[in-house]
Amino acid sequence: MKSSTTNLLEGVPTLDRPLTTPPPIPASGRERAAELLESGLVFRYGETGASELDAALLEDEFATLLGRKYCIATNSCGAAMAVALRASGVQVGDGVLMNAFTLAPVPGAVAHVGAHPVLVDVDRDYRIDLASLEREATRSGASVLLLSYMRGHIPNMVEAMRVCDRLGLRVIEDCAHTMGADWAGAATGTFGHAACFSTQTYKHVNSGEGGLVVTDDDDTAAQAILLSGSYMLHEQHGRRPPIEAIERHRQGTPNWSMRMTALTAALIRSQLPLLPERRAKWRVSYHLIAAALSDTPGLRLPHRPAAEGFAPSSIQFSLDDIDAASMQRWLDQCAAHGLHVKWFGRDVPLGFTSRFDHWSDASPSDAAQTAAVLEGLCDIRLPLDLSATDCATISTIVDAVTRKILAEGTR
Ligand SMILES: *Cc1c(COP(=O)(O)O)cnc(C)c1O
Repeated sequence: MKSSTTNLLEGVPTLDRPLTTPPPIPASGRERAAELLESGLVFRYGETGASELDAALLEDEFATLLGRKYCIATNSCGAAMAVALRASGVQVGDGVLMNAFTLAPVPGAVAHVGAHPVLVDVDRDYRIDLASLEREATRSGASVLLLSYMRGHIPNMVEAMRVCDRLGLRVIEDCAHTMGADWAGAATGTFGHAACFSTQTYKHVNSGEGGLVVTDDDDTAAQAILLSGSYMLHEQHGRRPPIEAIERHRQGTPNWSMRMTALTAALIRSQLPLLPERRAKWRVSYHLIAAALSDTPGLRLPHRPAAEGFAPSSIQFSLDDIDAASMQRWLDQCAAHGLHVKWFGRDVPLGFTSRFDHWSDASPSDAAQTAAVLEGLCDIRLPLDLSATDCATISTIVDAVTRKILAEGTR
């Protein structure tokens, strides 16, 4: 039975485009991919000296871009995180501190190394809560933090690193949503012992799948190369630690076969130079929508300090005054106008939403502050080709639907 709420609202436009359009692969990437396909050389390694091949070049370029010593390419960010955790010393049975608001591959990586998540709350602005971090670190004794910049929200990194240093925590950054972003001019991915990036289609660079680990530590880099599945062809890596470091770990480090293909590397290389331009475009869309929604009653946008150089491939806001039953009507009404919004308060995960009580054996009371934040949290993807008119349409729909649902009365 269709409810009356799905009727169109008068005078409110309809969005006539999907928000899932990926950016195309630039011509240079398509040309290089065609060469690789023609030659058949799609594996990252050659039998002899393939250090000039794409994955090695990408590792060198990405390490240079971030100013880090080493970069190891993998087949996904989830794989990169598992590699980084193990190579940073996480053992079977350990607890790993991590944001309670993140995506399922983050706890998945923790599970991969036989460890278990120790949930840390997020604050009302969707960033890790440093008081909760301190409590959970002290309570659990865990010594590694997998710090997720979920949906691109970056905490005050000066304060965060001060707390981590004081607690003796080793930090691994999950930069799946912050490639090209920074805190006060320092790029995300340069703060932790190691950092992981994603090049999955809906992140900042589109290669279908792909991951990158960066670190400055010789032993971590050596283990990451071996874990990624280097078949002892580490000489062919674009950035590799001294051979003695490899020698220290070649015995006893498993081969997880998580390599990146040359084809993937070629697609990524063609897009790295576009990161600043993409970030600028995304920020224009974000600010257009955020400004238009700043007066919408009952709708709260996160506070984002000037130091947060975010690169927003999506926008989030909270509808704290709308209860769960009314949220369904809110979502249906937006959908009727062509706008499909993700809602993290849903009981069952749908699409790319996920909640800690879906992917772990935790219950909502284990991270009560995060559970409350997720209740009203809405998420809209911002494709790179969004026009100013599309942004206006999105904000007009969200504003009108929110006013209507509030006027109908909730709670
Ligand atoms: C997408 C995502 C990942 C994992 O990336 P994959 O490359 O898909 O494995 C990790 N963390 C966050 C926050 C993500 O959104």
